[in-house]
Amino acid sequence: MELRGKKVLVVGLARTGIATAKFLKAKGSLVTTTEMQPKEEMKAATQELNGMGISMEWGGHQIETFLNQDVIVVSPGVDLNIKPMQRAIEQGVRVISEIELAYPFIDVPIIAVTGTNGKTTTALLIGEMLKEEGKRVGVGGNVGEPLVLFTDAKDRWEVLVVEISSFQLEAIEDFRPRISILLNITEDHLDRYACYEDYIEAKVRIFANQNSGDLAILNQDDPIVMQHREKVRAKKVLFSLREKLDEGAFSNGQSIFLRLEGKVEEYSLSQTPLKGIHNVENMMAALTAARMFGCSKKAIQDVLNRFKGLEHRLELVREIEGVRFYNDSKGTNVGSVVKSLQSFSEPVILIAGGKDKNGDLSPLKELVRERVKHLILLGEAKERMARELGGQTDTVAAQNMEEAVLLAHQKSQGGDVVLLSPACSSFDMFKDYKERGKVFKEAVKRL
Ligand code: ADP
Repeated sequence: MELRGKKVLVVGLARTGIATAKFLKAKGSLVTTTEMQPKEEMKAATQELNGMGISMEWGGHQIETFLNQDVIVVSPGVDLNIKPMQRAIEQGVRVISEIELAYPFIDVPIIAVTGTNGKTTTALLIGEMLKEEGKRVGVGGNVGEPLVLFTDAKDRWEVLVVEISSFQLEAIEDFRPRISILLNITEDHLDRYACYEDYIEAKVRIFANQNSGDLAILNQDDPIVMQHREKVRAKKVLFSLREKLDEGAFSNGQSIFLRLEGKVEEYSLSQTPLKGIHNVENMMAALTAARMFGCSKKAIQDVLNRFKGLEHRLELVREIEGVRFYNDSKGTNVGSVVKSLQSFSEPVILIAGGKDKNGDLSPLKELVRERVKHLILLGEAKERMARELGGQTDTVAAQNMEEAVLLAHQKSQGGDVVLLSPACSSFDMFKDYKERGKVFKEAVKRL
């Protein structure tokens, strides 16, 4: 892709946007940036980009800025449906995501991970496995560094593992991973997509440019993923928690079995610190990718034995008189809370709610009735959640996280689990899910 002398607009100036603007400048483009936030709010961007000869627009997007470009590069958080973008698309301006911009400059194979939930965990697992094998592996995309920072770097990396959101997949053209993984598709981001079908279409674009020499790893238990399997031209390898497969990965809870071309390998789960059935799915997907990329069985088993999982994902905070407190602040949609609840056989006191993403709550109904002893609701979504789930169990509202934790503690008895797993985003009360998790953990530590 020739970028020298091209007029390129970068939309959104958070971390990805800053890296993108610098990358384009180094390639000789005429760079403009546009950001909704006022300049004063975006200190990192001004510090890093000032004096580089970049034209910067702050505090809103002007339509003319979008029309007067050869290419527009969108940051992951930016909605393609905003008016200036739509006008530019109508006028034939090329609109691409940051991963598409980086792709032609990446000279090593890519293993790409998408899905509604489990992307970060799976991408990091694959990264660890390949590292354990001694491969020079970069892990980036949604997690870690943006992909433009992995360009022109054959001497540094021999493979990249990339976590990709649906937003980035919306604006790809040629992006083609050697191995793609689609973990699951459940409702999410309905506050941004016109309908669920649009979100699904974005996710399955991960396969769009793959061909029979590539590999696609798919969740056989996920009905929506399987409905779209015909679109996959790459060689398909499936994983399942429910069925023994003739080819692919499956599990009996104690081990994961990987059957490829008739040969079965067994990976023990007896030492894995990772909790939750969803993590068995993530491990199945990750080990299939790593093994098919040439990782040894031993390297994979070593990583399974030690990989502790990530902060804010079913993270055990503390045990007080037999009550265990778990921080699952990253459980920001209904599908992830379903999995988190399924991961406990103990009675659960669930703290949920936050900024409503308008997801269908009905997949939670039966689980809440069966497993949730008390439901404590927070944030903007609390009225709707109380209306739709309150009938299933004892339900109360809390004003803030501190009060929610105190209520949970008062209502608990030995053997219970207190779980923060909100099914909502955090932006009504917190900066992000990390801050929400931190506030929860601090409140638990003060008990
Ligand atoms: P992502 O990067 O896709 O957001 P994470 O690995 O950060 O995924 O996990 C996000 C949340 O989703 C966690 O709170 C976790 O409990 C839940 N989760 C993780 N893996 C899965 C999975 N395979 N299926 C459903 N839920 C999952």
